[in-house]
Amino acid sequence: MKLLVAVKRVIDYNVKPRIKPDGSGVDLANVKMSMNPFDEIAVEEAVRLKEAGKAEEIVAVSIGPAKAQETLRTALAMGADRAILIQTDEDVEPLGVAKLLAKVAADENPDMVVLGKQAIDDDSNATGQMLAALLDWGQGTFASKVEPQDGAVSVTREIDGGLETVKLQLPAVVTTDLRLNEPRYASLPNIMKAKKKPLDVKTPDDYGVDITRRLTITNVAPPPTREAGEKLESVDALVAKLKELGVA
Ligand code: AMP
Repeated sequence: MKLLVAVKRVIDYNVKPRIKPDGSGVDLANVKMSMNPFDEIAVEEAVRLKEAGKAEEIVAVSIGPAKAQETLRTALAMGADRAILIQTDEDVEPLGVAKLLAKVAADENPDMVVLGKQAIDDDSNATGQMLAALLDWGQGTFASKVEPQDGAVSVTREIDGGLETVKLQLPAVVTTDLRLNEPRYASLPNIMKAKKKPLDVKTPDDYGVDITRRLTITNVAPPPTREAGEKLESVDALVAKLKELGVA
């Protein structure tokens, strides 16, 4: 099997986002950026399939600025074989990303495209589903188990109240959930080796894809700050307080 894995460079999950004063978005100046955590899980799953002899080649793809090369090098250090950066400084929305990935899939003919279930910056949870629709391939989203079988893949999905297993004919699109695996840290020797692995740089124009945004962000605001709690002396005081607040 050949696997295509989509990795996005996002604000690191440990960083508390700062909102730009004009409310136009999150301030990314001098902020630590990392691979989207669900995409680390996607890379890890692909590498495990290769280690288990079920996949032969892993191609990592990212759409983003020149610095997204670092994210791709991380994927290469984890075990991907080669990488493609579709370089743009535009903030490409899920439909644009899905169209670009569909073009890469047409060039590369993978058996499976593995994505994260969502990017933690925009939380769209849309790209994998749109990609499957554009390619007219089956999709197994929110995967907590991925088991390739002859010409197919069985995907266990985390759904409300339990697990569901779907069997997809290959080629297929799979998106990863948190419990699929625990991603490895790249070792120093593998980080060094990754520097020599092939990384192609392309542009959206090379694929003939128009990435003009269709969505406009009207305002980004921080969540309301939590107010301090209050200790009450008795149940009567609590009931009185709840009445005062209009919740009882
Ligand atoms: P989203 O639909 O934006 O929540 O993203 C879902 C998944 O699509 C991510 O976990 C990535 O695997 C993939 N993806 C989204 N944006 C990009 C991007 N710019 N480059 C590469 N992969 C992406």
